Amino acid sequence: MPQKNVVVIGAGVAGLTTALLLSERSGYRIIVAAKHMPGDYDIEYASPWAGANYMPVSMRGTQAAEWDKKTWARLLDLALNRPESGIHIQECEIYSRSKDKGSATAEWFSELLAPNPWFKEIIPNFRSISKDKLSPGVDAGTSFTSVCINTALYLPWLVSECLKNGVSFTRADFKHVLEARSVGDQLGDSIDLIVNCTGLMASRLGGVEDKSVVPVRGQIVVVRNDAGKMVGISGTNDGGDEVCYVMTRAAGGGTVLGGSYQKGNWDSQVDPSLAVRIMKRAVELCPSLTGGKGIEHLDIIRHGVGLRPVREGGTRVEKERIGDTWVVHNYGAGGAGYQSSFGCAQSAVDLVEEALHTTAKL
Ligand code: FAD
Repeated sequence: MPQKNVVVIGAGVAGLTTALLLSERSGYRIIVAAKHMPGDYDIEYASPWAGANYMPVSMRGTQAAEWDKKTWARLLDLALNRPESGIHIQECEIYSRSKDKGSATAEWFSELLAPNPWFKEIIPNFRSISKDKLSPGVDAGTSFTSVCINTALYLPWLVSECLKNGVSFTRADFKHVLEARSVGDQLGDSIDLIVNCTGLMASRLGGVEDKSVVPVRGQIVVVRNDAGKMVGISGTNDGGDEVCYVMTRAAGGGTVLGGSYQKGNWDSQVDPSLAVRIMKRAVELCPSLTGGKGIEHLDIIRHGVGLRPVREGGTRVEKERIGDTWVVHNYGAGGAGYQSSFGCAQSAVDLVEEALHTTAKL
């Protein structure tokens, strides 16, 4: 059978994972075309800003939970067997305060905060933290074993794995999704299918312009201090759009302190007073960061801001005929792009096969 030419628009975790899984099937010539590539830091490029951890927020019985479930197996395998991918195993503690009930963060985290979340069936060592071990003001807690991804290592690793499988890469900034067909000139052939992994910018890409994708701003501080574990909590005393979490990345990647969950906010600049609140909350939640001392004992590497591509209705993994070209979408993963990456990419690859099979019959 002749090879099919596929362009993947986007080199974030969604585009790279989709390209990688597609490259594991035979019969495809794949080219990833993107405005931003691993190594770049930009407000239009969410992936480098993530921690990233595996703390599922998807609800039991949903497609999103299925994607997260499939992804866990792959991330655990990488943590155990592929240290060069920059993923390591970390213990995780999640705390819950009754007073946060009904807040935006507690809603977003509702499955994560639940005493019996669906994911306790797949991740190791899920247990409740006994009441006498909880800090004042905290009403419940759970702990489990999870993974933390050093995204500064993991994204280039995905590129390397793709290159090894024959995927090629090119820079491009498309105004319209069908402009990706022009990549065919580089191949000296026509493009059979486009995969759209443009994240938040799917809201502006011509031919897609999905206005249900909005930014949810996350500000972080990366420090040299080692927390020794990952910690999160249901809310803060500083407003409903501020959150508190800590995670130490693999292989000297530093510890990420978060954060915020500011819907509709495109501001790329660091808010210095928010940065101070983030650090104060982090040392309170996780005293092991500074040995119980204040934020002046945090050793800051950098501050950062990223925009989560949140889509009303969840990640869009669908195929669509635009003009005379098949487009498979995989965008809008919000704050879960890593923890759902393999599941979403697998579904996208299945749709690529389905679409090209349909075309063959036309
Ligand atoms: P992006 O990474 O934004 O990539 C989009 C790609 O498309 C880029 O290459 C871009 O250049 C390209 N592109 C866009 N438009 C065009 C165009 N017109 N032409 C050409 N190229 C284009 N997730 C987790 O699972 N766990 C976490 O712990 C976690 N923590 C997070 C913390 C923060 C502070 C933030 C901001 C996010 C976090 N996330 C986390 C979410 C995760 O980062 C995102 O869900 C994920 O990175 C989205 O990846 P993506 O590939 O869809 O989009």
